[in-house]
Amino acid sequence: MSRSVLVTGGNRGIGLAIARAFADAGDKVAITYRSGEPPAGFLAVKCDITEPEQVEQAYKEIEEKHGTVEVLVANAGVTRDQLLMRMTEEDFATVLDTNLTGTFRVVKRANRGMLRARKGRVVLISSVVGLLGSAGQANYAASKAGLVGFARSLARELGSRNITVNVVAPGFVDTDMTRALSDDQRENIVKQVPLARYAQPEEIAASVRFLASDEAAYITGAVIPVDGGLGMGH
Ligand code: NDP
Repeated sequence: MSRSVLVTGGNRGIGLAIARAFADAGDKVAITYRSGEPPAGFLAVKCDITEPEQVEQAYKEIEEKHGTVEVLVANAGVTRDQLLMRMTEEDFATVLDTNLTGTFRVVKRANRGMLRARKGRVVLISSVVGLLGSAGQANYAASKAGLVGFARSLARELGSRNITVNVVAPGFVDTDMTRALSDDQRENIVKQVPLARYAQPEEIAASVRFLASDEAAYITGAVIPVDGGLGMGH
């Protein structure tokens, strides 16, 4: 059956791989993008998740064209890496407002339709860094750890309505976000990963699609690591 799926930040990187995975399986996929030309093949809706009005507008358009969102993947996220000493109030606030409060905005809006439908799948994209911590990423790690408490609270709140809420925690994935790192940094990261390589975005998408599938109907409040073993033991 073709479902109405929304992937935030689905115009590139991990989000685009997730959007493609759902589209390949026959779902109706909407993606959000902020600027530039969105990729073809999806219902692309312009939306900055730090702007509540834009979130509302995006949902109106998606509901009109694809119906109530049945699967939400909250993927959009940013980094503003800096050691604490140099981290500005703005660096901290921007990352929290995008990664955590932005996720709250899109999940809250999706919840309305899911409650009415008495079914729904929510998958949040966190990070291994939210659980392990990372020097220079206190803002990012705090936002990604926050998603775990957020998801687990919602899993309890919404479980009786047949809505599951899960978290995927990727390790290092080959996208624009990690291509911004220096060669030295990239090499050091690979040394710490038991599988000794970066993930491809499609490898994250596979877990997301599983969590949204019928086979995963009894999984909620889970944090699924897709990190090549980097975070094991946390
Ligand atoms: P990219 O930097 O390649 O893409 C980020 C996406 O988020 C873009 O689509 C971007 O849109 C969107 N976005 C950022 N800010 C906003 C905003 N305010 N409103 C709407 N959309 C926004 O990152 P990745 O694909 O690598 O990361 C995707 C997710 O996975 C993020 O949440 C990231 O934290 C997480 N992650 C990534 C890892 C990695 O190694 N790459 C590891 C673990 C987690 P636009 O194109 O318009 O800027």
